[in-house]
Amino acid sequence: MNRRILAGNWKMNTTPKEGEALARELMEFFSENNPEFPVLLFPPATHLANISKITASIQNLSAGAQNAHSEEKGAFTGEISVPMIKEAGAEYLLVGHSERRTLFNENDDFLLKKTEQALKQGLKVVFCFGEALEAREADNYLSFVQEQLEKVVFKLSEVNMGNIVLAYEPIWAIGTGKNAQPEQAQEVHAFVRKILAEKYGTKIAETTSILYGGSCKPSNAKAIFAQKDVDGGLIGGASLKAEDFIQLYKLLNAKN
Ligand code: PEP
Repeated sequence: MNRRILAGNWKMNTTPKEGEALARELMEFFSENNPEFPVLLFPPATHLANISKITASIQNLSAGAQNAHSEEKGAFTGEISVPMIKEAGAEYLLVGHSERRTLFNENDDFLLKKTEQALKQGLKVVFCFGEALEAREADNYLSFVQEQLEKVVFKLSEVNMGNIVLAYEPIWAIGTGKNAQPEQAQEVHAFVRKILAEKYGTKIAETTSILYGGSCKPSNAKAIFAQKDVDGGLIGGASLKAEDFIQLYKLLNAKN
């Protein structure tokens, strides 16, 4: 059974031309080395249609959107809907990223509606969660992430769980260069798998992918990916350099 997934969140980086160049560099590698597990690219919305055309020719390579609104359509100036990203070729939607939660005030109710909208339209969701430094230092990070999951993912019915990928992203590790220690990641991932089993049963717990995200790069990924319950990575900074992202793919590919 494969739970491995590698995802690259480009955030607000690259122009459409730069994004295309990055995708083409990745294609050079992946067209000769067919990915053995899903590899997901989350470019900015302006490049989605183009990047998804590029990824479409390779099995297991997919594009996703970093954001979409919870409503299907309407008077939401500046927003992008799930049907729009779907038609642009997105197969996945990123939901709950800490930057959306903190910088754009996306709360749990909104994240739940957004998740439901994406699932209703046939997309898969990569749901991000993770504690801030205060919760880590106060030693209540497990209850913190449990609450984050209970308020969104655990409100979904069992049938949806096949379309949910979880990504543990401790906020103190995102973009800071300070990754979680492999054992710290493993502790949270194992805990999440345990509460998934309590909520949905062992089959769903054993088949749900739980990715790690937060300053994951070629120099530290081997030890992180080696952890039993770490099924892959959601990569920010290191997804912007084809060489690094390919190296991360190789490291994850070596995990069996
Ligand atoms: C992210 O934003 O999802 C992320 C993990 O970023 P970075 O790898 O740059 O810490």
